[in-house]
Amino acid sequence: MYDFIPDNPYILLTPGPLSTSKGVRNALLRDWCTWDADYNEGIVQNIRGRLVSLATTKTEEYTAVLMQGSGSFAVEACIGTALPRNGKLLIVTNGAYGKRIAEMAQVLKIGHIEMALPEIEAPNPDDVAALLSKHPEITHVAIVHCETTTGMLNPLGEVSRVVKAADKILIVDAMSSFGGIPFDIGSLGIDYLVSSSNKCIQGVPGFGFVIARRSLLEQCAGNARSLCMDLYGQWKDMDKSGKWRYTSPTHVVRAFYQALDELEAEGGVTARHSRYDENHRLLVEGMRGLGFETLLPDSLQSPIITSFLYPNADFNFHTFYEAVKERGFVLYPGKISQADTFRIGNIGEVYPDDIRLLLDAIFEVVGKQENHA
Ligand SMILES: *Cc1c(COP(=O)(O)O)cnc(C)c1O
Repeated sequence: MYDFIPDNPYILLTPGPLSTSKGVRNALLRDWCTWDADYNEGIVQNIRGRLVSLATTKTEEYTAVLMQGSGSFAVEACIGTALPRNGKLLIVTNGAYGKRIAEMAQVLKIGHIEMALPEIEAPNPDDVAALLSKHPEITHVAIVHCETTTGMLNPLGEVSRVVKAADKILIVDAMSSFGGIPFDIGSLGIDYLVSSSNKCIQGVPGFGFVIARRSLLEQCAGNARSLCMDLYGQWKDMDKSGKWRYTSPTHVVRAFYQALDELEAEGGVTARHSRYDENHRLLVEGMRGLGFETLLPDSLQSPIITSFLYPNADFNFHTFYEAVKERGFVLYPGKISQADTFRIGNIGEVYPDDIRLLLDAIFEVVGKQENHA
């Protein structure tokens, strides 16, 4: 039926936007009215309910708010609304996305302390606990779950335990892990979780979302430092009828609904996690066989995205990238200061067979490059 849509020229092995299914892309092909119940009730409210159910079994304690823009917009709306004027935010950072939260706090003039760690170091929960007891004025703690900068999976369970023991509000940037790694925000005590349409749910880019503890969000009236990025205002309107305050990205939202259907059809977050794990396992095993080393030890590594070190001083990422792209796969440059790396994502409409083909392509490219030298 949709034969006229050209298929993608290559697979994106990137951390989002990522390769989406044909079903998701086809769902973009009709228009929606933003005040009609077909859209507000049928799509928006349905999505909000399903997001809460994906995040926790304690569904009555949480609510979901969708926010226009990329994932960072939702993070900024979240901290800009969750923190009252006299609040103070501790931000645990070990990569670009953690640092971005600190930048947001700076711009929004939110009092904050950054616990800054090297990009290849995982936060020690005891150090977080020590900081919290040293600074009793801290009200909120923010941490990134999967630091997409390196691919590190931060110890969310242990950090939430110390944050909850100190009775602080916990904000988690789970942008690149939500939907791809199973965890329950209710049992971890997470108060705000932020993610977006174009990561592990495998939708197209255009909005982010916050899954918030209802009893806390209710107290956030008047906190926002921005009219448009007021998570509370957006929630108040959206909760009534599913209507977004300002124009909603209708096609993107409908495609996300399809992506949620496909996540369910795959077997839910657990099944998706297994697929990503298998992608990752094959990738690392294959790349090591080709002489590449990972930046992180396996114990700190997420199945979401993997950083590889340049194999030698002569390695030219750009040439490598172009040659691999010609063979149908798009990789991602590195983003860290301490080492020369590039990244390969395992998420999206990507299967173990795609990884096997990728490894064949890299084998061919690396062989050719060696012949040139
Ligand atoms: C993708 C991502 C974001 C959001 O980035 P945008 O470019 O705004 O979509 C935030 N945090 C993490 C950990 C991410 O992976």
